[in-house]
Amino acid sequence: MLIMAREESKYYLCLSSEKNIPQGSIVGEFRHHEDKDFSFFIVLDDETVKQARHRELCVTMAKNESGKDCAVAYINSAVLRKFQQRRFHLSALWHELGHIHNGDYEEGNAVPSNEIGKIRNQCINEGKVMDKELRADEFACRLAGKRNMIKLLESLIQEREQLNDKNQELAIKEMRLRIAHLLAYKSK
Ligand SMILES: [Zn+2]
Repeated sequence: MLIMAREESKYYLCLSSEKNIPQGSIVGEFRHHEDKDFSFFIVLDDETVKQARHRELCVTMAKNESGKDCAVAYINSAVLRKFQQRRFHLSALWHELGHIHNGDYEEGNAVPSNEIGKIRNQCINEGKVMDKELRADEFACRLAGKRNMIKLLESLIQEREQLNDKNQELAIKEMRLRIAHLLAYKSK
């Protein structure tokens, strides 16, 4: 498959500011100023997020109407509200765009997701974060701002602390490691 190198500074995000949008609607989209074929849709779909056992959003590759590859992020109503209220929350979408830009989904498909989970946990226990997560964070940092990306991670830690689920400790440790990485990261 031919992957065209898209210039990262040419991405832009459109997101609806409307309230009471029906489930299943496209609420936003990443586009690229030069690569008109590129599309990354943001769809409001509480049920898909729940079924994927994600708390806020999940991303998948799909085909658009003309059969071209596109990416889709399913988000739930709670996170849409956050995106619309506080700009720094949008860094989460830029992080996901980073994965797509870096081609992580194409290579990631070969490894079953429970395997990825194991590798991820092993990394955190060793005080490391998977390289592709750090690269997606750096991408978000360059395009949405370092301050915003760090604010996002800090707010996710706060939310997580209130949740008290079984993965809480590892998840928080990973986010602290990601913050430390970004603090030391110098974007050119
Ligand atoms: Zn990620």
